[in-house]
Amino acid sequence: MKSLWNDREASEHGDDPLGLRVYTSRLLGREPDLVLHGGGNTSVKTTTTDLFGHAHRVIYVKGSGWDLETIEAPGFAPVRLDVLLSMAALEQLDDADMVRAQRAAMLDPDAPSPSVEAILHALIPFEYVDHTHADAVVSVTNTPTGEEAIRDIYGERMWVVPYVMPGFALARTVYTMTRERDWAECDGIILMNHGAFTFADDAKSSYEKMIDLVSRAEAYLSRTHPARISPVPPPEDLEALAAIRRSVGVARGEAVLARWDADPASVGFAELEDVAELATRGPLTPDHVIRTKRTALVVGDDPAADVEAYVESYRDYFQRNATEGLTCLDPAPRWAVWPGRGTICFGRSPKEARIVADIKDHTIRAIQHAEALGGWTALPERDVFDVEYWVLEQAKLARSGPPPQLAGKIALVTGAASGIGLACAHELLSLGAVVGAIDVDPEVVHLMDSDAWVGIECDVADDVATAEAVKTVVRQYGGLDIIIDNVGFFPKSGTIEEIEPEAWDRSMAVNLTSHQRLWKECIPFLRLGAEPAVVVIASKNVPAPGPGAAAYSVAKAGLTQLARVAALELGEAGIRVNVLHPDKVYDTALWTSEVLEERAAHYGVSVDEYKTRNVLRTEVSSRDVAALACAMAGPLFAKTTGAQIAVDGGDVRVI
Ligand code: ZN
Repeated sequence: MKSLWNDREASEHGDDPLGLRVYTSRLLGREPDLVLHGGGNTSVKTTTTDLFGHAHRVIYVKGSGWDLETIEAPGFAPVRLDVLLSMAALEQLDDADMVRAQRAAMLDPDAPSPSVEAILHALIPFEYVDHTHADAVVSVTNTPTGEEAIRDIYGERMWVVPYVMPGFALARTVYTMTRERDWAECDGIILMNHGAFTFADDAKSSYEKMIDLVSRAEAYLSRTHPARISPVPPPEDLEALAAIRRSVGVARGEAVLARWDADPASVGFAELEDVAELATRGPLTPDHVIRTKRTALVVGDDPAADVEAYVESYRDYFQRNATEGLTCLDPAPRWAVWPGRGTICFGRSPKEARIVADIKDHTIRAIQHAEALGGWTALPERDVFDVEYWVLEQAKLARSGPPPQLAGKIALVTGAASGIGLACAHELLSLGAVVGAIDVDPEVVHLMDSDAWVGIECDVADDVATAEAVKTVVRQYGGLDIIIDNVGFFPKSGTIEEIEPEAWDRSMAVNLTSHQRLWKECIPFLRLGAEPAVVVIASKNVPAPGPGAAAYSVAKAGLTQLARVAALELGEAGIRVNVLHPDKVYDTALWTSEVLEERAAHYGVSVDEYKTRNVLRTEVSSRDVAALACAMAGPLFAKTTGAQIAVDGGDVRVI
């Protein structure tokens, strides 16, 4: 591991202790082999002066909720050093009381809560303290001869602390162990199964000691054989993937995304002969448990039975370890080994699944290193349980608040690059769903820079391209729950006598036939979806046709009939199919002011009157249509299928 220290960058902070603390914290945060997603913490001790001119010794310690990679000065909480040192001398302190006392000792009431390791940072008599959960160090400690190996690598000047629960217990252990010792004889501290501390009176030395410490563990590991890499991509089975996702969602009681990783390292791990046993020994370090649970799911030929067995074994684990007053968390796995095919990570959002995947990537590598060193040895389940059910860890998850209504749902929108389709896609994203957006316009690919969006250029009249588009969405997110089938176009007006055969055929192909072809591809996945729903954007022209638009109206009427038959055929599988009839919406690029003025003049009314020619005298926007379409795909319409609903401000010809 290389030091990323740069004199020029560092000099921008002059001799400001907090500025330099931010700088080297970010250097640590940039290296995922050191800290992952909120892991690790850092501090600096300094003297500040209050309003009254009184000087105080304070420690600025990383606040919870901040990530070292992106931390800024306000991410550090200033805490009175004397208070933390007095707390270390207490025989006992409840962790919740510790957090309250730490907050009460802050010099800035608006700062975030100090890290649960604040007391330990305070105890170390150097200005800068760096703490990471470095993969290499933890991999060495998670072996039967870990402690010997650590002493071998580092010698006398590295102090070793056996595993203790983080928080007050760990601070207290370090306090007792070091009270009689001379810190001048110490280069750093290794916490077994947890991580490492380094420290110095300047930012650079403390940071570079960490890099040196980790490099030595990496050098030791490099003697072992590297993790297995699969040379060939695995075969695809998207229906099996969707079935696994469904079972996990049922166990969790809420829809989840399933991120299939088929990269060489994930497949290599999944090809190991003893993978089922290796993946269920325990996590890399206990603080991963709130993200990954203690063990992985191992799926075989019957995913539903495998998930059921996982749930049962999780409940047993809870029973064995729970103390009074604890409630069992949801028993669903957070990641799975799919033998021969790779790994699957579950989350209610792409970000949650990515965090699990990052931790998984580091874990599967560490497992293989530790195996080569004599055997992957995770902590006893009791220690892992204590962290999983630790109030301070659960508080981290609770901070993110309740998930949005369609979190974990996978939607497909056709005609998604503009107008009603784009409005539907926006609405779905804002409700927490991920969106597979299909459009003939290539713009759709780059319309949104979000991992909740996969844009696919596709002409729905091309059956092969449509089938591939559906697969792309399932491959990306693990299944399919919602279709908002909006694609359509308005052919050139003309009476039945006037319509050219090509114009008629194209309208039938896009406005009618393409929908049947799309559904045919989607239905096998919808059968495996979470509360699956199809919403068809038809047209006001179905209940109220007008002259000169036969090619459009007939196709949309056929589409409506197709949806009614689908509602009958798919109801048994719990798939709802409903139809929405919008009137024209005028807030799209199609309706330029010239076109609007021309149409208004044609009817001898003003543009405003033209746009509000309905019973309610109101203009219907594409957002109004999208809001109703998403509601029809959501829980409000859970018991409605085969319905046709207008969003047109009220039409006298329909009412
Ligand atoms: Zn830690």
